[in-house]
Amino acid sequence: MNRRAFFAALGAALVEGARASSTYRADALARAAKADLGDNTIPCNNCDYCMPCPYGLDIPGILGCWNEAVAEGRLPDNPGDPAYAANRRRFLIGYARAVPALRSAARCTGCGHCSSHCPQSIDIPAAVRRVDDLVEKLRRNGRA
Ligand code: SF4
Ligand code: SF4
Repeated sequence: MNRRAFFAALGAALVEGARASSTYRADALARAAKADLGDNTIPCNNCDYCMPCPYGLDIPGILGCWNEAVAEGRLPDNPGDPAYAANRRRFLIGYARAVPALRSAARCTGCGHCSSHCPQSIDIPAAVRRVDDLVEKLRRNGRA
């Protein structure tokens, strides 16, 4: 399954899951996509069961920015990559547009309220911290 097919299949699964009032199919596809794309993908299927976060974070939005970059092969995690500067800029701009500062990963308190609601058993505080660490690193690298 290539990246474009992953998003097409995941979108179709979410529609199907909503119709059937079940996230089973979407969950299965998210797991398959994770296996296909490697461990870098966070297996969030955007179900919103973890929401609302008591501290206002847009959890699926935050994780979605990461997953989209992974799926498109442009996660800026290697400064030695010739595409790093372009990917860094694109990630930071996309993240700022998708997730308002007051709802961003930096606001996570680690309270853990979210994880028990996640059908994908994602360690959400850790996943959110992973995104925040990347954002902070990318911002620092821009100032260097
Ligand atoms: S751990 Fe972070 S993301 Fe989860 S509910 Fe608490 S503040 Fe929100
Ligand atoms: S509950 Fe889990 S799978 Fe659903 S949106 Fe939240 S993090 Fe993603």
